[in-house]
Amino acid sequence: MTDSDALDRLTSSAYQQALEVIASVEPRIADATRQELADQRSSLKLIASENYASPAVLMTMGTWFSDKYAEGTIGHRFYAGCQNVDTVESIAAEHARELFGAPYAYVQPHSGIDANLVAFWSILAHRVETPALEKLGAKNVNELSEADWETLRHELGNQRLLGMSLDAGGHLTHGFRPNISGKMFHQQQYGTDPETGLLDYDVVAAKAREFKPLVMIAGYSAYPRRVNFAKMREIADEVGATLMVDMAHFAGLVAGGVFAGEENPVPYAHLTTTTTHKSLRGPRGGLVLAQEEYAGDVDRGCPMVLGGPLSHVMAAKAVALAEARQPSFQTYAQRVADNAQSLAAGFLSRGARLVTGGTDNHLVLLDVTSFGLTGRQAESALLDAGVVTNRNSIPADPNGAWYTSGIRLGTPALTTRGFGHDEFDRVAELIVEVLSGTEAGTTKAGGPSKASYLTADGVAAKVKDAAAELLDKHPLYPGLEL
Ligand SMILES: *Cc1c(COP(=O)(O)O)cnc(C)c1O
Repeated sequence: MTDSDALDRLTSSAYQQALEVIASVEPRIADATRQELADQRSSLKLIASENYASPAVLMTMGTWFSDKYAEGTIGHRFYAGCQNVDTVESIAAEHARELFGAPYAYVQPHSGIDANLVAFWSILAHRVETPALEKLGAKNVNELSEADWETLRHELGNQRLLGMSLDAGGHLTHGFRPNISGKMFHQQQYGTDPETGLLDYDVVAAKAREFKPLVMIAGYSAYPRRVNFAKMREIADEVGATLMVDMAHFAGLVAGGVFAGEENPVPYAHLTTTTTHKSLRGPRGGLVLAQEEYAGDVDRGCPMVLGGPLSHVMAAKAVALAEARQPSFQTYAQRVADNAQSLAAGFLSRGARLVTGGTDNHLVLLDVTSFGLTGRQAESALLDAGVVTNRNSIPADPNGAWYTSGIRLGTPALTTRGFGHDEFDRVAELIVEVLSGTEAGTTKAGGPSKASYLTADGVAAKVKDAAAELLDKHPLYPGLEL
């Protein structure tokens, strides 16, 4: 028996037994957990922000580290008995520093948004609060008079942030007004070129010169192209901004060496934030990487922004980061990018339109207006056929942020299952088949509907069968018998 067979057997029996233990208390949760695995196994998961973490990563989260409070930093906790959490957090941070070549890593944030909040407040602490305290001769905010505190609070709340707009592919936390980032900062946003859909660095630079932001954010959730972070840093330096790069979506491509040189944000950004569960393929969580200059500020993430760290998740981050340091992860990351090329080529060869005309990262943004559909209709019709995607705005979207005109598709999850060029070409074919076979429905009043749709008889079932054939060839957690 090979090592991997032995591991498969261990994994299977561990999960079978864990589910029995769970069922002894609340069987419906054990059932839902089994059902979720069955559903994930039987659908084409193309959601660009999702992946499948390894059993080792998943199992690490199910332990008594969950029971431990450990507010503070490594070796400096506000609770007793944190020696094992110190071990776990040190190992996770060491892997993160080594993997990304970063001087400093903070692995406590519970999610990508938390990582961004830590980064925002670290920048505000570093650039606004600390100099103000120095000027007033105070060690911390508690020593300020009420009047000085009011002045500082006013200043902290009136800083400028420049980020990529949501409809161009940016994230909610990059200054979107309804999000906290758009409320705690005076914000402005940059978009993409309306013709090409591409970032125009001259336009970003002009905006930055005019607006003079304290914080400039680069990074995205739905932009299908690489970013030149050396150029972004140059712009930030020119206007005196701190460059923060949010690589939540593409951290796996950075870790795997696909984004190197000026496309690797870590050496160029003052602060780099990320999730750990997207292309990086770890547990749900976030982390912040920082240049030495910001390390002390980021280290105060708790109590500045966070409460107790999720020690069980930090442990799982350590395991996932260790996996990402293996040579096999570099192969995986390259395949994620190659597969996105295959998916894009599959669409283009069948006459579909892609925002920016293609991709050079892990995602494509399909414009579904040429099929006469909204993103909402396309998303629903695809789901009926077992293809899981999400609708997404496209630049200058005629259907707004709710119905949208795009479908975002990513390759990280199915690449983990082993899909390659031929499979992704087939995925494009199946998607085009569903969308070509679907038309917009009508409202009760007889007008055109943005939500209802009608797919021709038999199309969804046929595509579901074809998808099942692909999925059967590349099973999810193949050794896991459940
Ligand atoms: C997904 C994402 C986040 C948020 O991550 P959560 O873990 O859901 O909080 C932040 N920034 C970007 C760019 C993202 O894509």
